Amino acid sequence: MTIAPPALSLDNRFARELPELALAWRAEEAPDPRLLVLNEPLAAELGLDPARLRGPDGVRLLLGTAVPDGATPVAQAYAGHQFGGYSPRLGDGRALLLGELTGPDGRSRDLHLKGSGRTPFARGGDGLAAVGPMLREYVVSQAMHALGIPTTRALAVVATGRTVHRETPLPGAVLARVAASHLRVGSFQYARATGDTDVLRRLADHAIARHHPAAAGAERPYLALFEAVVAAQAALVARWMLVGFVHGVMNTDNMTISGETIDYGPCAFMEAYDPATVYSSIDHGGRYAYGNQPAIAEWNLARLAEALLPLLDDDQERAVALAVESLGGFRPRYDTAWSDGMRAKLGLPGAVDATVVATLAGDLLTLLRADHVEHTSFFRTLATAARGAAEPVRRLFVDLAAIDGWVARWRALGPDADAMDRVNPVYIPRNHLVEQALAAATDGDLDPFERLLEAVTAPYDERPGLERYAAAAPEDFGAYRTFCGT
Ligand code: AMP
Ligand code: MG
Repeated sequence: MTIAPPALSLDNRFARELPELALAWRAEEAPDPRLLVLNEPLAAELGLDPARLRGPDGVRLLLGTAVPDGATPVAQAYAGHQFGGYSPRLGDGRALLLGELTGPDGRSRDLHLKGSGRTPFARGGDGLAAVGPMLREYVVSQAMHALGIPTTRALAVVATGRTVHRETPLPGAVLARVAASHLRVGSFQYARATGDTDVLRRLADHAIARHHPAAAGAERPYLALFEAVVAAQAALVARWMLVGFVHGVMNTDNMTISGETIDYGPCAFMEAYDPATVYSSIDHGGRYAYGNQPAIAEWNLARLAEALLPLLDDDQERAVALAVESLGGFRPRYDTAWSDGMRAKLGLPGAVDATVVATLAGDLLTLLRADHVEHTSFFRTLATAARGAAEPVRRLFVDLAAIDGWVARWRALGPDADAMDRVNPVYIPRNHLVEQALAAATDGDLDPFERLLEAVTAPYDERPGLERYAAAAPEDFGAYRTFCGT
């Protein structure tokens, strides 16, 4: 079926330039579609008419069951290391790239669906998704965007009217999302494994053109591409760490070339500060624990470097040496991004020496960990101590002498409370609130979801009446567990 004019124009650049990585496929019909949530500001940014998207043709577009003329929906092939073990063939088992969309701003973005039915990459999976996890991606990615963290964006969630069988029967849904692209480290691993250097080169050229165009003019464009990805990921993971975000499943197929956060599965925001924090029910060894994220990002980038080796130099030894040197840029970039971010969170002026900031931040994290202090509340409350009232901060600690000593050292450096309020969120998608909202939505009540969305999309702006969105989880919420691939 095609959409009546004025039709949306979707390019098929990925499918055209990389047919070896693209399998033309169609979405499954939905028995009883119902639009649950539409991101109107994002639709406008993309030049799409929200009223049209709400209509029957629009909803079919958001489900992939109506395809604009000229578009070629594809399932993308990729490989990946999952929890350290290599899978040569993953790919979109339940997702489709509808095509690339160019907005009024001239930027090209992928329009992509998740939960649109089985594809030849589905292996044992049913190709479907449930309402809860798709709304979870919607709210968490919206929160990340509002926090200024690069991320794929949620455009809409449509309930399909189909039942999805997990541990219990659940209502099915399709998420429509928008991303700079869906190129992943795993895309390069797949291209490399074809053994065809031409495919790998075309993929790298496509990535350079779409994301890192400056690399094209470098002496070694493919090394420059690698360095650009290293820089983007170092900056991204530093942002995650500063806000307490735990991705939960940093497999190489879930790490983008663009530097956007992708695939909100078992992710969660950390409650009590602890580097060992793990929420994912399948992460038994804690591989993707909060504190491991920078090292895992670096490990994934080493896999990207391996995939790129044939493009780096004809002499393999030389290629390895170049890759190792460029990968060495990850740590200093990460450290700088993190300490700059920590300086901002602590409200410290540029004149304070970076080593002083790093020492102060390190000492603080030791105290937060020792007293199991809630990460988000602590940093937001700290601004009141900068304004002269230390009591709200003291209430979060057991060891009062230790925190008093730290606050005195910090205050002597002249922190700026208003600047702190602009970088330390008051509202994040707290785990207990996300669970409540998704449970209600699964039962047909979208109200708690919409209210949570409203709170987290203006995360720095404290508003009366939203106190429960700023409060820590109740004691009886217990240890939080999240699930993947649902
Ligand atoms: P993830 O780590 O959740 O991003 O997914 C890893 C792989 O599993 C990807 O290749 C997905 O397409 C596939 N996958 C996850 N859930 C399903 C499902 N319900 N049906 C088919 N494939 C799935
Ligand atoms: Mg994935």
